[in-house]
Amino acid sequence: MVTILKKRYISLKILKLEALLRRLPLMHKRRVEIEEDLSKSLAGYRGELALNYDFKFLKQDFYYVLEDLRLQNQNGDFFQIDCLLLSPTYFLILEAKNMSGSIMFNQHTRHMIHNNKNGLERSYSDPLLQVQRQRIQLENWLKHHKCPFVPVETQVVLSNSDTRYDATTNHNFVYKNVTSRLNLPNRTTEFEAVHTEELLSHKAIKQISKILMKRNTPYNPNLMEWYSLKMDDLILGVFCPNTNCPSVSDPMVKVNSGWRCRNCLTFSRDAHIIALHDYVLLFGEDITNSLFRKFVLIESVFTASRLLKQLVIPATGAKKNRKYKLSLPKAADIL
Ligand SMILES: [Zn+2]
Repeated sequence: MVTILKKRYISLKILKLEALLRRLPLMHKRRVEIEEDLSKSLAGYRGELALNYDFKFLKQDFYYVLEDLRLQNQNGDFFQIDCLLLSPTYFLILEAKNMSGSIMFNQHTRHMIHNNKNGLERSYSDPLLQVQRQRIQLENWLKHHKCPFVPVETQVVLSNSDTRYDATTNHNFVYKNVTSRLNLPNRTTEFEAVHTEELLSHKAIKQISKILMKRNTPYNPNLMEWYSLKMDDLILGVFCPNTNCPSVSDPMVKVNSGWRCRNCLTFSRDAHIIALHDYVLLFGEDITNSLFRKFVLIESVFTASRLLKQLVIPATGAKKNRKYKLSLPKAADIL
């Protein structure tokens, strides 16, 4: 058994991109770019998830797994690790790449050239440089946090096992550092043969994992800033919860005890709560009465105040300055 100490969840970035696309008009000039960013993020996520399939073929009761770590180095910059395997004799950083078609590693220019199945070519920075940098940063991080010395190895893992890959030069270096997902157990066997000295007890591994998890800072980007968007760029209002509604993003009308869809006549008492899920992902956890009214399209200060009070969430300040605290979705909610 491999022990997974920290699981991967759908990232906040993906949830935020989805919220943004729900709210962005179909003809908005940034829509195509944002759709592409979402599909890239989803492909990356699926690739990382795929790594788990092969963990069961690793040496039994030897490895502990921390998925999706984001740590701060001494310069204040963050570095991200798709998957970290910890063992008594060495640590292994896995960087997942999820690409179909073929990949060429150009070791002169340090680029990875990807040819997809439709013959489209695209160049990326060399993931071998990326993992090298992750290794240095992790080693420094462990030293800084007074963890005992453990050698750190790296592998770029192609999570789609049909992907062909090759190198322009330095073939051996590339073959040694890149592997397909199916071959990962063989690679770890090779590392186990090199690193034979037991440097950590299982208890010590768990202690180090605890520190790593405590210092893990999930990526929480502000997409409105990133894409230079304002609230007025978005479709505001409360959307119809009926998934078969002919016009889901046509704002519902506030009626006495709830919301009514103009199209399918669905009634909902709390559809504004779903709208607030989008709000918190796009504008952060603070909301005021006037921002709430603007976002869900209601005019009455009193109605807004009543709805906000019903949420039973923390609030500070009085009257016009009253700020309510929404919460971002928790990892457990989004599995
Ligand atoms: Zn409807």
